[in-house]
Amino acid sequence: MPLSSSPRIAIVGAGPGGLTCARILQRHGIAATVYDRDAGPHTRNQGGTLDLHADNGQIALREAGLLEEFFELARPEGQEMRQLNASGAVLFHHVPEPGEQFKPEIDRGRLRDLLLGSLKPGTVRWGHTLTAVTGPSEGPRRLHFSDGTSVECDLVIGADGAWSRVRRALTDTAPRYTGITFLEAWFHDVTARHPEVADLVGQGSAAAADGRRGMFAQRNGGDHIRVYLIQRAPADWITAAGLAPEDTDRIRALLLERYRDWSPRLRQLITDNDGPYHDRPIFALPAGHTWQHSPSVTLLGDAAHLMPPLGVGVNLALLDACDLALALARHDGVDKAVRAYEDTMLPRSTELALRLDGAADDLISTDLPDFATSGQQS
Ligand SMILES: Cc1cc2nc3c(=O)[nH]c(=O)nc-3n(C[C@H](O)[C@H](O)[C@H](O)COP(=O)(O)OP(=O)(O)OC[C@H]3O[C@@H](n4cnc5c(N)ncnc54)[C@H](O)[C@@H]3O)c2cc1C
Repeated sequence: MPLSSSPRIAIVGAGPGGLTCARILQRHGIAATVYDRDAGPHTRNQGGTLDLHADNGQIALREAGLLEEFFELARPEGQEMRQLNASGAVLFHHVPEPGEQFKPEIDRGRLRDLLLGSLKPGTVRWGHTLTAVTGPSEGPRRLHFSDGTSVECDLVIGADGAWSRVRRALTDTAPRYTGITFLEAWFHDVTARHPEVADLVGQGSAAAADGRRGMFAQRNGGDHIRVYLIQRAPADWITAAGLAPEDTDRIRALLLERYRDWSPRLRQLITDNDGPYHDRPIFALPAGHTWQHSPSVTLLGDAAHLMPPLGVGVNLALLDACDLALALARHDGVDKAVRAYEDTMLPRSTELALRLDGAADDLISTDLPDFATSGQQS
């Protein structure tokens, strides 16, 4: 470990990025403490499935010494992908080859458990909601938590996601609404209860769009399927229609009206899901979001570069975490390490964010989106 002293490193956020960073640091003999607002590892449903790509997310898991375990838990068959038009005609169907591992799927909860299980006991302090970071740019910094406690450290790593509190210590920039909103719903026991939807989605995912609206349905572990109904709409479209998010039947009726031209097979994704609906308006940071370097605070993952959900978010969070941890392991001094990390991470995320700027619209485009076909044979 080249770091000449033992800096006190605090990571805020036990998401995929924060946990990967802690794991790789520990593999290099560098201690870090992770603080998360969740009361415990299983107090919140972690949501759906993710694909980890060979050219970013898997690189980080290899550095974490967890790639083999990941392949044991992952579902390579989840790489199956269908793209349909609104009439239900299949435009593109990718069935993975045996042994194809370009972007196998894993449920978020399983990924979190894999990472948590690899950390030294006591690394994660649950029930710690960060409210503010104070102290001079050159450090030390003090983390303040909602229960009135605080802790001092030499480096704060903000891995606290889209609405990062750590980010406020570096910049006033906040995410903006992209104009695209996801309405999420689930199908349970799909083999027995929803065989037609199971057939439509296969072992992976099915997407359809007509230029104004889209649908994206994805198989998860445990015989569940998650669907997103994707619309260009004001962020408050549910209340603007005089409804509340829990008005499942009335939201369903409104959706059926909006998707009235769509094929009955696809409209099943609206009529047959097990509800309730969860509204997920999509926000993003401006492309090229950056900040004035500080030797005592940095950001990774969504906290650094929130982008539309086109299948790269977790992968980038893992790659950032890997780059930052390796920089801390290889440089003599935290400041040099943070600079080296930011010199790599910021241009990479800017380049991608510029490519994805406005790409939230790809989610409702009739063109085959790049993210559907990248790395796959058609
Ligand atoms: C609808 C939707 C679908 C998506 N689908 C995909 C997909 O299929 N593939 C993909 O790669 N990406 C997807 N993404 C993006 C992906 O979820 C994120 O990019 C990824 O989770 C970022 O990881 P992270 O570790 O940076 O942050 P997060 O996963 O957001 O983790 C942040 C952690 O910080 C904690 N935290 C937050 N605030 C505080 C606080 N104040 N104090 C303490 N702890 C705090 C949280 O509890 C959480 O554990 C999707 C996003 C959305 C919105």
